[in-house]
Amino acid sequence: MDPIRKQELLRKDRQHVWHPFTQMKDYAELDPILIERAEGVYLYDADGNSYYDTNSSWWVNLHGHSHPRIKMAIARQLELMDHVMFSGLTHPSGIELAEQLVQITPPGLDKVFYSDNGSTAVEVALKMSFQYWQQSGRESKTKFVFVENSYHGDTLGAVSVGGVGAYHSVFRPLLFSAYSVPSPNVGTWPDTSEQGAHACVAHCLAAVRQRLESSAGEIAALIIEPMVQAAGGMIIYPAAYLQGLRELCTQYEVHLIADEVATGFGRTGRMFACDHAAITPDFMCLSKGITAGVMPLAATLCTTAVFDAFYDDYETLKTFTHGHSFTGNPIATATALASLSIFEDEPVMAQVEESAAYLREQMQTFGAFTHVDNIRSLGMIAAFDLFADKASKQRYDFTERIGFRAYQAGLQEGLFLRPLGDTLYYWLPLCTTPKQIKDIIERTHRVLHKLNM
Ligand SMILES: *Cc1c(COP(=O)(O)O)cnc(C)c1O
Repeated sequence: MDPIRKQELLRKDRQHVWHPFTQMKDYAELDPILIERAEGVYLYDADGNSYYDTNSSWWVNLHGHSHPRIKMAIARQLELMDHVMFSGLTHPSGIELAEQLVQITPPGLDKVFYSDNGSTAVEVALKMSFQYWQQSGRESKTKFVFVENSYHGDTLGAVSVGGVGAYHSVFRPLLFSAYSVPSPNVGTWPDTSEQGAHACVAHCLAAVRQRLESSAGEIAALIIEPMVQAAGGMIIYPAAYLQGLRELCTQYEVHLIADEVATGFGRTGRMFACDHAAITPDFMCLSKGITAGVMPLAATLCTTAVFDAFYDDYETLKTFTHGHSFTGNPIATATALASLSIFEDEPVMAQVEESAAYLREQMQTFGAFTHVDNIRSLGMIAAFDLFADKASKQRYDFTERIGFRAYQAGLQEGLFLRPLGDTLYYWLPLCTTPKQIKDIIERTHRVLHKLNM
């Protein structure tokens, strides 16, 4: 890009744009990276530098940027129809996508309600569960249970069931009250062996049982991020916890909402994280990867039992009165269908299996660093934490911003490596090859050496 145009754009960015999850003052002197082009697993800036997109553009991209089949699907759909409303009207790709989502998600999820982002997918599940009980003669079931460290989006309903203080505490006065249960954070459990993980899961499930035992009569649903509490710090936990939740929710007649917004569509090494535990939730929230990370789209799936509680004569006033302007946008649903056809026609999950095994093995190399610990991975997700003192698990003072410094050093090494506090992680596109993973890890080693880690 012409350097004068670049400077002009950055000046206007500073003047008019407010970026998400960003302390804008950090960028008073520092320029954000002006991206001009993206292809495969690489981002290209205005100066022609390339960066590995190690977080899949905020956990959304699946098959690499600029995939020809995705581009073709968008162009074809655009020729026919741009956007139409989805009440009273319907359209082919919206219908076919619903059918395919029902086929690939766990058995028993039969109905698909579209919206346009992960937070709304969660809001829809919360409101449907609430209204279900109102219309099923169980009006006292109005509350929700969430797990500490969980993140379900930034709208107020989703924040009400969020458990990350740094994002959520300022809004407390605006939120509905909800019960929290402990996070199955096996990495911080005193005993980090397999037995320890077992004990941690048992401890956390006992707390859920206790809560449901005492309060199930006032609880509509429990919401969970299956297998990985992502924004809460890439906390990966055993499938046994999910299985335990399913059993308890069934036993105490509480809906289980699986928020697969981040984990869905292959990222964890299975198509859905719930597949690791072979469970069917009552609701499943999907977004991010649903369109291969190209168009905004979300879906909330539910069981026929839930749907039937709303299905009645108009005068009974049981309609689910919720919807968004861009519900079921045809370009987005056509994009999602193209992504699913790539899963079908190309060996996507076989590639994931190979790459994930290699990633898991290579992550162990970080164990040699003095300040790195709690190395973990699941599928294409991998993370470790930085400690001021590893032996005593002493964290860095947050004002040191060690994660942010690693991010900046990463840019110099051609890595777009966005941290979560002091947790460095990869959230790789499914198409990332072992060779690229090797390169990413070697570059990360150089980042850590630079920071005297
Ligand atoms: C990102 C995320 C959301 C929110 O999705 P948005 O599209 O950013 O609103 C909800 N749940 C989980 C688990 C997420 O990771």
